[in-house]
Amino acid sequence: MPGYFAKNEQHRRLVLKALLWITLSGGLFFSVINLLHDNWLLAGLEVSYAAVSLYLLTIVDRTHNLQLLTAVYLLPFFSIMILALAQPQTTFAVFAWIQSIPIICYMLLGLRLGMYGSLLFVGIGLFVFSRRFSSDELLQNVEIIANLGLASLAVMIFAHIYERSRILNEQRLTDQATTDSLTGLPNRLKLVEVFERERAHALRNGTPLSLVFVDIDHFKQINDRFGHEVGDRALVHFAKVLAQRLRVNDLFCRLGGEEFAVLLPGSKATQAREIAESLRERLAAQPLAVDDSMLPMTLSAGVACFGLDGQSLDELMLAADRRTYAAKRAGRNRVITREDVETVLDQAGADQT
Ligand code: GH3
Ligand code: MG
Ligand code: MG
Repeated sequence: MPGYFAKNEQHRRLVLKALLWITLSGGLFFSVINLLHDNWLLAGLEVSYAAVSLYLLTIVDRTHNLQLLTAVYLLPFFSIMILALAQPQTTFAVFAWIQSIPIICYMLLGLRLGMYGSLLFVGIGLFVFSRRFSSDELLQNVEIIANLGLASLAVMIFAHIYERSRILNEQRLTDQATTDSLTGLPNRLKLVEVFERERAHALRNGTPLSLVFVDIDHFKQINDRFGHEVGDRALVHFAKVLAQRLRVNDLFCRLGGEEFAVLLPGSKATQAREIAESLRERLAAQPLAVDDSMLPMTLSAGVACFGLDGQSLDELMLAADRRTYAAKRAGRNRVITREDVETVLDQAGADQT
């Protein structure tokens, strides 16, 4: 599922579409009103803007750069609002539109740009309003500006809080969906996402990328002898022991059951083999404590390399899985690479005869 966790922009697309329909119909309606007021400048701007909205509606669903499209749309939208507010023919009711700026900015531009956009355009709107509709009485002036300013600030604060919790919730759900609940390791979905990124990096920079498939040996026996609960503890122990050896850039994930994978960016086959060997040795040296005894655990692993064994994650998984199977057949507790396969299989065949 490549790109599954790419930035979720669907809600922004929907908000932008709704706004485009509103500005298309509103632009046409107000251009007629402004024509009746003989305000040709504003009427012309509104008709042009309605035409732009109509055009954007036809491309909003297929654009790849939604943020650019949004910026191209919002800048003239807010500018026309402020220009309308500054026109002597218009009424102070235009200010109602200024109040919508924070919500529009936060929903379409996100937290940071939303805040800057809101502060900038609401600020200009308030300034223009105060210049146009100032009364002779200072107290009344202060009252009007304080009311409008505070109301705008309240809308902005609510929009900020709302957008922030939306982002945090989205992050929490994404983390949950990409984490294995038993071991706390990333899961297969995360591997798919990270592989796409690392694959692009490897292609761009000509750097190596390896994948190690890891399977615990005779895991079923642990379950059968000590029960499922100890089996679970063994999986957690396994994850902890292996994770200690890996670098921050390596991705160690649980594929499911007692099968794991390690993605090693920047590692060639020989380096990946060394890492897999040291994982194997570490696990063999750190048995799991069950009651008063120590339960030895071992692993079998297969190494595959980007390029040599294929271009896609599926191809690499298949090659690494096959080598793990070869490691099992060769007696378990070992690591098999591309070069080893033939030798080991030959040897296994010779041993059997
Ligand atoms: P081999 O050395 O050939 O890999 O043998 P194995 O016993 O490790 O492999 P097999 O595929 O026969 O058994 C895997 C077992 O892992 C079967 C299943 O019950 C167990 N298992 C899968 N997921 C979990 C889990 O989350 N918790 C526990 N406790 N057991 C699990
Ligand atoms: Mg196994
Ligand atoms: Mg297995």
